[in-house]
Amino acid sequence: MKNSYHLNTKLTGLLGHPIKHTFSPLIHNVAFQLKQLDYIFLPFDVPSSNLKAALKGMIALGIKGFNITIPHKENITQFMNNVSEEASIIGAVNTVVNDMGKLTGYNTDVNGIYETLLPFKDDITGNEISVVGAGGAARAVIYTLIRYFKPSVIYLINRTEQRAETLKNYFYDKMKYDSFKTRELFPPDLIDVFKNSKLIVNATSVGMFPDSDDAITNLNNSFTKDQIVFDLVYNPPQTQLLKAAAAEGAIALDGLKMLVYQAAKSFELWTGEEMPVEQVYKALQLYIKE
Ligand code: NAP
Repeated sequence: MKNSYHLNTKLTGLLGHPIKHTFSPLIHNVAFQLKQLDYIFLPFDVPSSNLKAALKGMIALGIKGFNITIPHKENITQFMNNVSEEASIIGAVNTVVNDMGKLTGYNTDVNGIYETLLPFKDDITGNEISVVGAGGAARAVIYTLIRYFKPSVIYLINRTEQRAETLKNYFYDKMKYDSFKTRELFPPDLIDVFKNSKLIVNATSVGMFPDSDDAITNLNNSFTKDQIVFDLVYNPPQTQLLKAAAAEGAIALDGLKMLVYQAAKSFELWTGEEMPVEQVYKALQLYIKE
């Protein structure tokens, strides 16, 4: 990838810890080149103890904006001057815009989830679905589903069932949604939960590199051809869960489209321009295959 930097090159980036396996620099720097924008995106490995100082530094350096990833998405809200309505309901920020030292937090994961699931809207609305996970990504999934897709029931499954219970009460308070059923993550049991679900979402980190052989459930006869399985994990894109779903005829959706569409919204917030998502998506797929 060719890059050029000038005196006035505008800085964007990512704050997280660890950030070794991020694809965000590739996505944004390819998009900046395609749109011929004088911007650069850099990753910054910032542990929690340095978050406040890093934010001061970002403002001092005049950064245009940045992404936030694990473990700062929830903690960072306290340092924002403004938080968008979506990010405030979800309780997590993944994108920050710096306007002359005033920081505004957004949650663009919503955009990624929405664009990934939109082609299946009629299948989801009014049907039962399962969401596995109760972290920041699960919050964005649940918000998007309740707000835009209106499923009849959400089975909320998490390794630590108490966190699923907390999330259930949280979304009742925030969005008055009361059609949750919570379950502890106990692998052989999930087949029974999944069998009633039109959509199954993995919003945990299970299956992610380097533990790519792991899966949230027993993978034998877990899915049917009428189901949609969406795995937020994007590294590797083809997780064991998605391979099993596809082998049983289900529609298997990987986390790459979400990744590109959440980035597209951040890109728009920083530059005011539309990201050429199809070209960026192809570049990302090529990079992963290499
Ligand atoms: P997080 O806040 O740390 O939450 C992690 C979740 O995974 C929790 O529910 C946790 O359960 C569960 N978990 C972790 N290890 C587990 C294990 N060994 N067995 C069972 N459950 C386990 O992380 P997050 O921000 O929500 O991210 C979750 C995943 O989504 C990550 O893989 C991330 O890369 C992916 N993601 C993808 C995109 C995209 O654009 N495609 C965007 C955002 C996130 P406990 O509550 O029991 O700890």
